[in-house]
Order: sequence, then C-alpha cells, then structure tokens
Amino acid sequence: MSGVATGAAGFMAAPQAASAQDPGHQAAPSDVALRVKALESILVEKGMVDPATIDAVIETYESKVGPRNGARVVARAWSDAAYRQRLLADATAAIAELGYGGAQGEHMVVVENTPAVHNLIVCTLCSCYPWPVLGLPPKWYKSAPYRSRAVIDPRGVLREFGVTLADGVQVRVWDSTAEIRYLVLPERPPGTERMTEAQLAALVTRDAMVGVAKVSAPRGGAA
Ligand code: FE
Repeated sequence: MSGVATGAAGFMAAPQAASAQDPGHQAAPSDVALRVKALESILVEKGMVDPATIDAVIETYESKVGPRNGARVVARAWSDAAYRQRLLADATAAIAELGYGGAQGEHMVVVENTPAVHNLIVCTLCSCYPWPVLGLPPKWYKSAPYRSRAVIDPRGVLREFGVTLADGVQVRVWDSTAEIRYLVLPERPPGTERMTEAQLAALVTRDAMVGVAKVSAPRGGAA
C-alpha cells in the first residue's frame, strides 16, 4: 500500500473527495467565486481597478512565481559552493541574485538538509509560505492536520509522505511566520555529479523544498 497516496490524501480537505466521487457533475461557481466576480465587475465599472492590472497579477502567480524558481535556487546552490554559502548566510539577498523576491518573500531563510539533519517547513498558525520561490501553498500545507501534526509528530507526517528517516537523523521543524519564510535546501542526490544546473533544477520538487520529500536521481541513473 502506498504511503504517499494515503498520506497526501489524509491532509486533503473534504470538498476534494466529494468532487472526486461525482466526476460527471459540472459544478456551478461557488458563492465565493460569484461574489468575487460581482465585486470585480463593480470595481471595474466604477473605474477603481484596471482589469489589465488584475490580469497581470493572475499572470504573475500562474507563470512567473512558482516552485521552478526555488528549484533554480537549489540547483545553483548545488553547483556553486560560494553561492550556497551566500544562500545560507543571507537567503533573501542570494535569492534576489537570481531575480526572485518580493511579496511574501521579503525575509527568507534557507535551511540545509544533510545526512544528519532533515528540515521540515510548516506554518502552524495559517499558511505562511515563500511565494516568490514556491508559488502558492498546496491545499495540504494549509490543512489543520498538517499544521498540527508537523510539529507534534514530524516523523509520522514524513512517513506518510513516503520519507522514512533513520533514527539518528535529527528532524528540525521550522514554523513560518508573516516575518520569516523558510525554504529547504534538499540534499543533492548521489549520481548527479555530471548533471548541468538546468538538469539538476528539473529534479527538484516543491515538496522537497518544503521538506516533505527528498530529491531523487533520475530513473535509470543520472546523465
Ligand atoms: Fe501563516
């Protein structure tokens, strides 16, 4: 039985399960979506917002901000020892070197996984998350079970995501706040020594940068 599938599902909110059971049903927009649409229409009509600005914000979160940015940061740190040092010393500045920063990423801290230490990120209070490098948080990150259990039983949570840590490995849990957002620098997988930075970036997943997964070498061996 797959621990990953059951674990991730365990952190999902009920509405997801409901729609999955009813695949043929074309859902009407939710009350919230309708209310947002109505508000947007009124604000545009009154000249208080420019629809182009709204489109630009949506475009930013759909294509410019997201975990590919974080993956590039990780790949650079794996490829360039001096960059890794700068990243661990002042993550906000080092991330800005690659052109990423801004809202919800003003004060970044990068925590490094090693054979002896595994880092896990949570926001116990709500859903604080480093938007410029990871995009918007996944549903499970915002769920009450993840937020509470990541602190109470991090090893159990990690097992459900398919990560089993040896007894000697120390787990550090970092609680994000409105002030500080964390990013995990995962361990570089063995067998990737000859890979380019772009190839490395393609291996790095969002979950690995939250600390609920490890980065694996490509199947069939690295290039
Ligand atoms: Fe929060």
